[in-house]
Amino acid sequence: MIIRVDFRFLPENLKLLIINSEKLNQYTITSKGFSGTCEGDSKNIHLFEFDGYFSGFKGLLKLVLKDNFIDDYVVAEDLDSENTFIILKDGDIEQLGLLLCDFCGMACASEEEKYIHQRAHYFI
Ligand SMILES: [Zn+2]
Repeated sequence: MIIRVDFRFLPENLKLLIINSEKLNQYTITSKGFSGTCEGDSKNIHLFEFDGYFSGFKGLLKLVLKDNFIDDYVVAEDLDSENTFIILKDGDIEQLGLLLCDFCGMACASEEEKYIHQRAHYFI
């Protein structure tokens, strides 16, 4: 599957560090051929071809952050787009009005949405 990672909240140097890391490099799709729908988007959103689970890629991203001692950023799922992760600064999550699920880290837009989403985990 094609996984999109939104790096817009990351400083350029950290973004390059992650993209060029050995663990992720092998999954990178060269931006050639992808003009992107939006000019600003194509610069910050990176595409990866990953033949595992969506959650597996999240683990990989977390590992890369850890490997590079980037411990003040977290990997969240973008609710607005499919197969998209967004990397946020730890404290920015509340600022953006997002709440993270205690179980899977999915970003929820409100307290109510988080409650409803988290309830689903109990039925698995
Ligand atoms: Zn969850």
